[in-house]
Amino acid sequence: MGVHSAQSLTAPPRSPREERHGSIALRSSEDVAAIERAGAAVAAALELAEFAVRAGATTLDVDAAVRTALAAAGAEPAFVNYPHPTGGPAFPAAACVSVGNEVVHGVPAARTLRAGELVSIDVGARVGGWCADAAVTVAVPGSSDAAALEAFIADAWETLHAGIALMQPGQRWSDIADRMQRVAFGRGHGMVEGWHGHGIGRAVHESPQAPSMVTTGLRTDRDFTLLPGMVLAVEPILVMGAHGIVGTDGCATGVPAQVGADGWTVRVADGLVAAHVEHTVAVTRSGPRILTRRTRAARETRTDGGRSLPG
Ligand code: MG
Repeated sequence: MGVHSAQSLTAPPRSPREERHGSIALRSSEDVAAIERAGAAVAAALELAEFAVRAGATTLDVDAAVRTALAAAGAEPAFVNYPHPTGGPAFPAAACVSVGNEVVHGVPAARTLRAGELVSIDVGARVGGWCADAAVTVAVPGSSDAAALEAFIADAWETLHAGIALMQPGQRWSDIADRMQRVAFGRGHGMVEGWHGHGIGRAVHESPQAPSMVTTGLRTDRDFTLLPGMVLAVEPILVMGAHGIVGTDGCATGVPAQVGADGWTVRVADGLVAAHVEHTVAVTRSGPRILTRRTRAARETRTDGGRSLPG
């Protein structure tokens, strides 16, 4: 689940031994291990949910798979009854299931999936009071366009992993956003405007906002330096073939997206399709640690394969 650029994020109530850097919580290694337990439940749920993505299934079937897997892992679904950021209806499901031109926060329904549709599955879990958040995008099997869709999804993973690889202590977040936008734009895709990653820990959405491209004001007002103990949900959203634009100031213009009448589902224009991928990542003294890594991560292996990256 992402946050909108207009959404203000606050750190949750401070626990006695918790450190902060400004408004950003710094987690101990024990806390990171606890978040990783929630991350393992998220990863297991995403693996099961992928099997539910097939022609003729509904997005409610995908949500049911997520609920079953989280319960089996002893985790609470963190998105059920998640409060709407501006006072609308609470989120009703365990997973956001976004299809086609829906980019994030799709509400599961009786909608039937068709071969070749792109489906983003975004899951949050809570274990022992700690949260993790991750997303995958998969194509509904059975399409003649499968190879092009899989290549697009691989570009999204490559974008995410290029950003994660830079999550070293001392790195500026804006340089990570710059790297992700270079990869996505270099592959010929746009990115969605206005929806960002975020801090995560006691709550699903904590300070800071972590955009996946260099938004206006990121370098001047909202940038931050990574420190050991920061835990961030990183979640680029690519729009296939919608060429990204970078201004002379290095700031990118994204593809506009609107929230639908249900108060949740975020869409780009008809005819466009998006891929949304996300991991919860801890910054440690020895570099990034992915806390939502799946055991059967075949769909991500191409992105870890050492292909040279632009920029
Ligand atoms: Mg998120």
